[in-house]
Order: sequence, then structure tokens, then C-alpha cells
Amino acid sequence: MMFDARALSYLKEAALERLLQYVAVESTARFGEPSPSSPGQVELGRQIADELRAIGLDDVAQDRHGIVTATLPATPGCESRPTLGLLAHLDTSPEESGTNVKTRVLRAYDGSPITFPGAPGRSIEPGTLDELAECVGHDIVVTDGSTLLGADDKAGVAAIVTAVAHLIAHPEIPRPRIRVAMTVDEEIGQGIKHLDIAAFGADVAYTLDDDKAGTIASETFSADLAIVRVRGMNSHPGTARGRMVNAIRVISDIVDGLPEFIAPEHTEGRQGFLHPYDVKGTVAEAELRVLVRDFATPVLAEREEFLRQLLGVALARHPGAQGSVEIVRQYRNMVDGLRDRPDVLDRADAAIRAIGLEPRRTEIRGGTDGSQLTERGLPCPNLFAGMHNAHAVTEWACLDDLALSAATLVALAREWARS
Ligand SMILES: [Zn+2]
Repeated sequence: MMFDARALSYLKEAALERLLQYVAVESTARFGEPSPSSPGQVELGRQIADELRAIGLDDVAQDRHGIVTATLPATPGCESRPTLGLLAHLDTSPEESGTNVKTRVLRAYDGSPITFPGAPGRSIEPGTLDELAECVGHDIVVTDGSTLLGADDKAGVAAIVTAVAHLIAHPEIPRPRIRVAMTVDEEIGQGIKHLDIAAFGADVAYTLDDDKAGTIASETFSADLAIVRVRGMNSHPGTARGRMVNAIRVISDIVDGLPEFIAPEHTEGRQGFLHPYDVKGTVAEAELRVLVRDFATPVLAEREEFLRQLLGVALARHPGAQGSVEIVRQYRNMVDGLRDRPDVLDRADAAIRAIGLEPRRTEIRGGTDGSQLTERGLPCPNLFAGMHNAHAVTEWACLDDLALSAATLVALAREWARS
């Protein structure tokens, strides 16, 4: 095995120290703001850039969007190996506060219910949470319940920084050239579009933004946004008979026609959905926004066609109404881009086995920065970093899994150094 218990415990303490430092810097992404959407992300990035310089990385830079990049050169003899990219995001979810995070480290968690003084009535316990049951006996970190923890994705950042520090301290471990990127605004889907992939210069990459030890997310949804627009005909309601055409009623018919079995609240696993999530309108005009999701990219077109048919039926029921469906492409399942690069997943499997775990390939019912990067030509699956219950005030990080995440990255560097 590549790491013994002592080495893992060293990685754990190093990563914990970093995680606690990073979560102390508020870096909440903000909806509706240009990227970077909050100054805290830039500040956290600045601190991490300083840390990467102090550790000894080259070319450390923070661009005008707040994205931090750095280089770890290859060990002698591995210069011609593919450049390995490692990415994590600096921002935290806008859904909960990330200000003044008060952490509690529970050593050798005993499995009793965890209560949150900052959120009276809230608690988590292994009996109802399988993920927490798997952390019994491990060291975990939670907050007081008044904020999220921010392990999504500061655990990912801590895993990467701890791994590159370990590689610098152990030049006997062969590694290819490594490029690190700490990105912004992942939580609002904005950060990665400012990453200059050519300048980043990685041949393969991995995001560190997943939960359980051993997990490799190799699939995400494919995603479109459908915008249904309807025009009605307004008139005074007192004299509306035979004249008024109510756009709100047309939209209601469409929503009514969406079957429950393709609604997010009734689907799981590999099932996709049509999700009406935003509606606004008047008698004269109304607009409905629908998320279109599926793991099989061609199914998106089928669902969109179904939506057009629903609109057609609704328009026929309301003579005089007009309508259209606009499709906005969002992102594509990374499996589409990884199909001809099985080595990217195979080497991750090998790295996870090298630290004594069994790799577990999963799919994400959403998108990652990696789905966009893969679509843009940089194959990029997502690896575990030990975060759990993300976006909630009951979020926790499993420090043993965080240590295993850093260890996996060291093993991954060694894997990519092999020809
Ligand atoms: Zn994340």
C-alpha cells in the first residue's frame, strides 16, 4: 500500500489545518452578479496563491476573474508525460450563509446524534443517514448550525494543496507536470467559462468535488433549458367574453400536462426529468422556464419535442394564443467526452486501488465544472474529497476521507507518470 496509517494521519492533520483556514474566509457565490460574484472568493484565492508560492509551486497567478493557477514541474524523466490538471472551486453555495463559520472537530465520532446549537431542533444521526453511519469512528468536522461548513469545495482545495505539498516534500515519487486551478462561482455555474483551457495547458484533469472515499463521478446529466413563451390577448375582464385570450391559462395547461413520472420530485438514479422551476406572466404574455435533464443526451430532444407538443395542444385549446419554445443548451454528460478516453477513468481507478480502496464509479444528477471542461475538450471526471450534506447547515466533512483524497491525488500523479 502506498500510504501507511502514519502517513495518512499526517495528511489528515495537514488537510484539516488547511480546511479550517479556508472555511474561515467567507466566499459565498452570489446569484445575479458578474463573475467573480463576491470579493471573498478573490480574497481566499489570494491567500491560497500565497500558500502555493510558499510551498514552492511555479507560475502562481490569480487572474482578473479570481481564478488561481499554479504549476508543479514534472520529476526528471517524466517531462514528456501528459500534464495532469487538478481543480477545485473556491466559492460556496449561495443557499446558506458562509459567514463567520464556527467549526467543531469531533474526533473518533461516536455515532451519537449531532445537534446544532445555532439551529435548534436540527440534528443528524447515523440511524437515518447512511453517509454519516459510514463516518462513525472517523474524525469529522461540523459547524454550530448557523452556517454551512463550506467543505464543498474547500475540502477539495485542501486535498489538492496537501497533495502537491506532499509531492514537493517527496521528489522520489515520480510525477508528470501538474497544473492546479482553484476556480470561482462553480455554485452559480459561471466560473469555468472564464478558465482559459489552452493557457491552463492540462492534457487530462480531475475536479475534487465529491463525497465518499473511493468515488469517481464519471457521468453527469446532459442539460438544456427550455423557455416557453406565450402571447395572449388582454381585454377588460368585464367585457372579455369572446375577446380575452389568457396566456396564464395556456402556461397552466402546459404545466398540468407534465407527467409526474418525469418530475425531479419523483425521479432518482438514472432517470431524467422535465422541471418547471420559474413562471411569470400576465394575461397578455407569460413565460415558463423548464429544466430539461437526462443522462442520455438524445433524450433531451425527445423531451423538448414533448414540450412543443404540449404547447401545441394548449394553443389549440385557446384560439388566438401564440407561443414558442426556445432551447438554451447548458451542458453535456461528461461520459460523451470520456468514451474515447477510458484511460482517464482507468488511471483514477488504479490510483484509488493504490491507496487500498475499491473505486466506485457514480453519476451526478447535475453538472460539474468537469462536464463543461470535458465538453470543451479537456477530459475531467470528478473525485471524492470527503464532503457531505453539501449546501446545508448540517454539512460535515469526514477528515479520514479527506486524507484519502489527498493520498489518491499523490497516487494519481504517480499513475500519470507511468507510460
Ligand atoms: Zn462543489
